[in-house]
Amino acid sequence: MKKYTVFATVVVLLLAVFAGFKSKNETVVEGAGRPIIIQGPMPIEAENFAKKLEKVKVEKSGTFVFYKGKLNNYPVIVVKTGKGMENTAAATAVAIEKYNPIAIINQGTSGGHDPSLNVFDIVLGKRVTNIGSLKTEAKNEGVGMDPSQWIPMDLMASEGSGSDPNAEKIRYYEGDKDLLAAANAVKDKYTKGKVVEGTIGSADVWNNEVDRIKWFHDNYGTSVEEMEGAAAAQIAQAYNVPFLGIRVLSNNKTNGGQYNPNTAAANQEYVYEVVKKYIDTIESK
Ligand code: SAH
Repeated sequence: MKKYTVFATVVVLLLAVFAGFKSKNETVVEGAGRPIIIQGPMPIEAENFAKKLEKVKVEKSGTFVFYKGKLNNYPVIVVKTGKGMENTAAATAVAIEKYNPIAIINQGTSGGHDPSLNVFDIVLGKRVTNIGSLKTEAKNEGVGMDPSQWIPMDLMASEGSGSDPNAEKIRYYEGDKDLLAAANAVKDKYTKGKVVEGTIGSADVWNNEVDRIKWFHDNYGTSVEEMEGAAAAQIAQAYNVPFLGIRVLSNNKTNGGQYNPNTAAANQEYVYEVVKKYIDTIESK
């Protein structure tokens, strides 16, 4: 009888220890999760958000700065990518390889292509496209240049060197539907302007010619332009990571909207609400 009591006690103790380990492990898993990456090109487009995170650790890779922290106990990493397509593409690949993110949001300021949008309005990138990827018409010497006749060039279309008609189509990267849903769900929390879905065009170019801006608006359907979104979207797609661009208008040449740098902070306030909502979505899955 005594033997059985000792045996039973040992079993109970072992079970208790095992249960203890298990619940510890579960706590660790709950607190972890794949991080959400929030990209901002310039200090004014990243640092406000980074300041909102808890328990921040700063890591650097090249010129890219990663602010690793928590938002409502969920891992969020703000990245200051630097401006332009190259910085953004590289910072996106590095972030994916290093941190295995569940989603990427590229956010910051932009210039309006749509005259119905005003400074402080926000565009959710239902689509993002590279507006610097173009082929010119063939023209002989002395006949001049005509950018209105330039043709879209899709660098992802063909692997070959010959001519592929598909390579003259506009390549659009679709915004992730769960990220878009989270962004639409918190629209009303943004009071400085309206929030609309649209098309974000990106290139290492700042267009100030209103006719050229109109040309992109008519031919590509662009709502705004900036210098990063399509680069991040292309790399996110290469790795199959959900992506969304969120851009506030800091200027709009088509309706006289003057540049206002305070829009950068306003956008981060809104994106913070989007991320909170998205975390709820992930955790209820
Ligand atoms: N203010 C600087 C230029 C900044 S580069 C100067 O004039 O010297 C532009 C940055 O702001 C990029 O990160 C880009 O994403 C964003 N941006 C805002 N409005 C833009 C516009 N109209 N065209 C292109 N980029 C714009």
